[in-house]
Amino acid sequence: MSDLVAPKQAGITYETDEPVLYQAEGQIARITLNRPSFHNAQNSQMTYALDDAFKRAVDDDKIKVIILKAAGKHFSAGHDIGTPGRDVDKSWDRRLMQSDHTTKPAAEFLYTREHEVYLGMCRRWRDIPKPTIAQVHGACVAGGLMLAWVCDFIIASDDAFFQDPVIRMGIPGVEYFAHGFELPPRIAKEFLLLGERMPAERAEQFGMVNRVVPRDGLDAAATEIAEKLAGFPRLGLWLGKQAINQVEDLRGKRSAMDSHYHIHHFAHAQNDLTTGDRLGGQDAKSMAAANKKQAGSD
Ligand code: ZN
Repeated sequence: MSDLVAPKQAGITYETDEPVLYQAEGQIARITLNRPSFHNAQNSQMTYALDDAFKRAVDDDKIKVIILKAAGKHFSAGHDIGTPGRDVDKSWDRRLMQSDHTTKPAAEFLYTREHEVYLGMCRRWRDIPKPTIAQVHGACVAGGLMLAWVCDFIIASDDAFFQDPVIRMGIPGVEYFAHGFELPPRIAKEFLLLGERMPAERAEQFGMVNRVVPRDGLDAAATEIAEKLAGFPRLGLWLGKQAINQVEDLRGKRSAMDSHYHIHHFAHAQNDLTTGDRLGGQDAKSMAAANKKQAGSD
């Protein structure tokens, strides 16, 4: 008996062919998340395009610094859990040494997929050999945090906020589990267990954000840091970045993340067993409504 399954028919409607934009100017590459009508919800179309864009910036010897920013009202609402372009069931030409998730049954399906598109890709981007700057405005929620956290710098506008509300799905935090490294443990617990919005100014107090600037000065602030970085030797920047990443790994970041990945997938599996849905019956609409209610906004 085969332990494989037939891939599901995907039924996907993409609203754009360009979920990520790329612009090179002098020594700086600007990569823009470009699903503004869905607050830059990350489908696989976007994560693979993002991987292409980072690769392009790494391959171009003229580029010394990479800025990751977003079009529209928000940086990113997180992983795509409910747009017409949700493409969880689609097979992709993978970037990491992972097998195709679409032929895998039960919990193995998501376990395989998220190894590639979430944990694997985020780690790959975190280790890019050039400095990266996340330029964050508006909402940076759940999967959005992962994109900001893999960058070396986070420059936020004063209207930005950070939030990981997935505890509402019974899930203990997003796949790239850096919570306990980005925030002190007690604050990380508050962030994770209450799942409330953390304004950029508060995030700055804990060192999760480098600078908070007015919204109309955000582009200029990120560019100023990028230009300063671009003035330093290429190899020095790479070595400096690796030195700090290595400190984090020696403090257990990588193994904490590996451990969390299995807890995370236990939660997905439990959801599936108890509700028949890996997200515990939540979707983009119900999560957004609950988040807004919690924040006291409409
Ligand atoms: Zn997951």
